[in-house]
Amino acid sequence: MQKRILTGDRPTGPLHLGHYVGSLQNRVRLQDEYDTYILIADIQALTDNFEHPEMLETNITQVALDYLAVGLNPEKVKIVVQSMVPELTELTIYFMNLVTVATLERNPTLKDEIKQRNFTKGLPVGFYTYPISQAADITIFKADLVPVGEDQLPMIEQTREIVRRFNRLYKKILIEPRAMLGQMARLPGTDGGAKMSKSLGNCIYLGDSPDQVRKRVMSMFTDPTRIHPTDPGHVEGNPVFTYHDVFNPDKAEVEDLKERYRKGTVGDVEVKEKLFNALNGFLEPIRSRRAEYASKPEMVREILIEGTRTGRALAQRTIEEVREAMKIRYAIAR
Ligand code: ATP
Ligand code: MG
Repeated sequence: MQKRILTGDRPTGPLHLGHYVGSLQNRVRLQDEYDTYILIADIQALTDNFEHPEMLETNITQVALDYLAVGLNPEKVKIVVQSMVPELTELTIYFMNLVTVATLERNPTLKDEIKQRNFTKGLPVGFYTYPISQAADITIFKADLVPVGEDQLPMIEQTREIVRRFNRLYKKILIEPRAMLGQMARLPGTDGGAKMSKSLGNCIYLGDSPDQVRKRVMSMFTDPTRIHPTDPGHVEGNPVFTYHDVFNPDKAEVEDLKERYRKGTVGDVEVKEKLFNALNGFLEPIRSRRAEYASKPEMVREILIEGTRTGRALAQRTIEEVREAMKIRYAIAR
């Protein structure tokens, strides 16, 4: 039987270069080989955006457009909207019994995200327990492989623990998934911060116009120790060069820039100009495919409806098995 992929994104905004190198690229590469399900995680997005539910609908479309723009083929890939699969909520509740508070407390990504979000009205239980609902997302589709960025590794580990517990306690029906990291496990932000992330406002989006890309590149952080273009500069840990390494196909140009940067014979402006050109070359086909799909909203809607229908049917089959394994599929019902 064909192996399965499940992965997804929160519809908290359009997707950026970090999503591309961390996960989208692998999804596109593997879509012929794997039975692929991609979840637009709107319920998860609510856990830290519940005061603004109105932002979800627009962002679901934006994320779907980004998927189609990077080359995910809707004839092969099922794009599923999380809130339209209520079986996920049921599985989350069963899984909650299999996880201790202490385990959640130790989750390093969760800790970072809580700190970063600085919940002024207290930490919502929904946010705190999102690793459990994410485990339900992955397992209900019986995924073998989960292409994700590095920040998600603790979530996959948590999922594996839950699956092992479930299978031991009830019946061996769930699959222990494996994580797959992208070409770049964690792309830094334009501010030089550890991770490009929608919540941090340090992104270059896949749908950005050439003008926006230019602005974001020109304002990027470089080597803080370098004051004049004639000072020898650092290439390692410099986000401009990290992006050159990933997105500039002209390796000779990158090597030349690095050499001159180290010697202090090239200015930031030239390095950034060349990065802008490389990024623009990479983004141009994505941009035009995005515009093409954006002009056909009915078609995009159909893709979401169809993907969600197929995804829900699979989720319903799994939840039946889960109930049976847990001996809560009583004779009085169904
Ligand atoms: P938010 O700030 O709303 O959490 P985000 O930018 O972190 O948004 P998510 O929707 O949480 O994006 O992440 C979706 C997927 O993209 C995950 O697999 C995540 O690991 C990956 N990803 C996100 N940002 C990066 C990045 N900078 N580098 C590599 N992978 C990334
Ligand atoms: Mg995130």
